Amino acid sequence: MEIMMSAQLEEIYRQVQSKNPGEGEFHQAVQEVLHSLGPVLTRYPEFSELRIIERICEPERQFIFRVPWQDDQGRVQINRGFRVGFNSALGPYKGGIRFHPSVSLGIIKFLGFEQIFKNALTGMSIGGGKGGSDFDPKGKSNHEIMRFCQSFMTGLARHLGEHTDVPAGDIGVGGREIGYLFGQYKRLTNRYELGVLTGKGVGWGGSRVRTEATGYGTVYFMREMLKARRDTLEGKICLVSGSGNVAIYIIEKLQQLGAKVIACSDSNGVIVHEQGIDLSLVKRLKEVERRRIADYAHYHPNARYVAGGNIWEIPCQIAFPAATQNEIQENDALMLIRNGCVAVGEGANMPTTPEGVHQFLQAGLAYGPSKAANGGGVATSAMEMQQNASRDFWSFEFTEKKLEEIMIRIHDSVSETAEEFGVPGNYVVGANIHGFLKVARAMEAHGLI
Ligand code: GLU
Repeated sequence: MEIMMSAQLEEIYRQVQSKNPGEGEFHQAVQEVLHSLGPVLTRYPEFSELRIIERICEPERQFIFRVPWQDDQGRVQINRGFRVGFNSALGPYKGGIRFHPSVSLGIIKFLGFEQIFKNALTGMSIGGGKGGSDFDPKGKSNHEIMRFCQSFMTGLARHLGEHTDVPAGDIGVGGREIGYLFGQYKRLTNRYELGVLTGKGVGWGGSRVRTEATGYGTVYFMREMLKARRDTLEGKICLVSGSGNVAIYIIEKLQQLGAKVIACSDSNGVIVHEQGIDLSLVKRLKEVERRRIADYAHYHPNARYVAGGNIWEIPCQIAFPAATQNEIQENDALMLIRNGCVAVGEGANMPTTPEGVHQFLQAGLAYGPSKAANGGGVATSAMEMQQNASRDFWSFEFTEKKLEEIMIRIHDSVSETAEEFGVPGNYVVGANIHGFLKVARAMEAHGLI
């Protein structure tokens, strides 16, 4: 279904494009939200008067800083660091840090913009932000990673704080990096301020289930979408792109719930294993030995490695894009539909292009957009902040139960909003409107700031 934007929204979008030239992914994220907001402005004209949408599209603050460091050969390296505090209507800026050579201001702004609505949907008190660097962790030694993290935090620390801005991980930033970042923050500020970062080690202030949360949450969201269609995960053939933290714990929960994952990937190629992916091997290769997924095939003669392959060509019933933005293009979406795929749950942020999303909605798939489907990660980060604030430490079972309840709540509120606005089953519109209304109401209450 094609929803046209009103002249007013078109004008807002045009302004965003001209004020933020060359930031294609940011434009894309904004356009997707604006597409959903027409009926909201008709129902709540006060938001137009207050220019809430224009204000949401303008980050509250943005920092760009130099990150110099020395590699193991003693050579000087220079990277660029970013942190965007996008919106703090609902709480301190909250969102991950991404280390990847593709990182630019536009990428960080798209991620920060998405984070505003995702975080609002969790129902927790967290605003939206994002940060990162064009640093490429691939092939770097542990020492180089540590020196880079220390320099990055030296540039960023003055802007952070448990009530101000609370980063976590994203692509290229996991438990090891959060440890180095926390150590440097502590040293610079002379404070053991646990709540300033999430995704910490479980032995020193981290929350149980945070590592698993994004993946597990995505699967819970999928289970709820299927339940709404009187279907289950039992026996479903699934594809999970990527093989990082999100992909690994999507696979784990799918296997626990009786689904079968037959392929995963990394940026070099695809592993197809019809008997079902051997998760303990993926964990060892990626989490412990930090190797490429190609090596999987050395251990399983029945598995096939396709260098440069496209995972979406493999027939499946459910697809979980869990690698990166825009990994499902229109052709991939059409191929998935043609091959009998009935549902898509987004573990990565904005992994489907607008044309791809259009195809999924047209074909009537159960399509869970990232800002709803992958909110379990940041929701568990908010639970980590809760535990840090109360100096408490919850059990795995208790925390996972809470995560499950949050995902059910996100699903139900998004689905009810879609119904209320006349597009039942459209989780894109439901998520955008529900998230927007929470943020808009708080901004209205806080006055013109
Ligand atoms: N990077 C994750 C996301 O995209 C998690 C952010 C967080 O835990 O703050 O939501």
